[in-house]
Amino acid sequence: MSRVPRVATTDPATPFDWRRWCAAQAIPEEETRYLLLELLRLPPSALAAPLYLTGRQTRRLAGWVARRRRGAPLQYITGRAHFFGEMVRVGPGCLVPRPETELLVERALDGLEGGARLLDLATGSGCIALAIAHRRPDVQIVATDRSAAALTWARRNLRGVGVTVHRGDLFAPVAGERFDCICCNPPYVEERAILPSDVRGCEPDAALFSGMDGLDHIRRIVAEAPAHLLPGGRLIMEIGTGQGDAITRLARPHFTEVAIHRDYGNHERIFAGRR
Ligand code: GLN
Repeated sequence: MSRVPRVATTDPATPFDWRRWCAAQAIPEEETRYLLLELLRLPPSALAAPLYLTGRQTRRLAGWVARRRRGAPLQYITGRAHFFGEMVRVGPGCLVPRPETELLVERALDGLEGGARLLDLATGSGCIALAIAHRRPDVQIVATDRSAAALTWARRNLRGVGVTVHRGDLFAPVAGERFDCICCNPPYVEERAILPSDVRGCEPDAALFSGMDGLDHIRRIVAEAPAHLLPGGRLIMEIGTGQGDAITRLARPHFTEVAIHRDYGNHERIFAGRR
């Protein structure tokens, strides 16, 4: 490894030997490959042909790999995450959109009527509101979050798509308002849970943890959402695996058509209920 240059060729006429370079980095090869493709804005199929990098690109790539070695989430390094076909800008201060949350978008879109009002509670990066707004420009969307840092990302991502953004704790910014659909990816992780080192300590605690059992926010949301739902309105909320029974018990007094949907990893992932 010591004889492999830390920074690859700077000669733009010489193909970049990415296989050799990736293998020499002290991070998993697929992560180096991800960073390389993100840097060059290329699809994975591009790796089948010779790659040429400028000196600037090779220096940037080496910088990115060094940040990853120090533990930063990959998407914080590249500054973007892919979510439901959207390119979402992310960085310190907002949760990186997870593929499981795409299921929440699917559930929210399903049965959304023209002209409906939708609330994206605890919007974070704004990824859910963005995905829905692009597909349903006829729906009025309000997005809220308590974190000023997260809202900086949300405002950037939601610029020009017609989503109203407010800062405040849960339903505080929408006092007296009612919606046809409330969707929410709340913090739901148990405080003592063991998480990967590029999650705990890197992504915001406030977006992840919710008390000893992970249900502090969900208890409040289930109790407070009905007052903000129009008759027949739906709450669609992401949950943690193993929380389905507890949330179903909490929700029964407030909702009809309570359902827990599993993700493609067969984990309980989405709560759905109708007022
Ligand atoms: N799914 C995330 C994780 O496991 C948690 C996101 C959340 O709490 N909403 O890291």
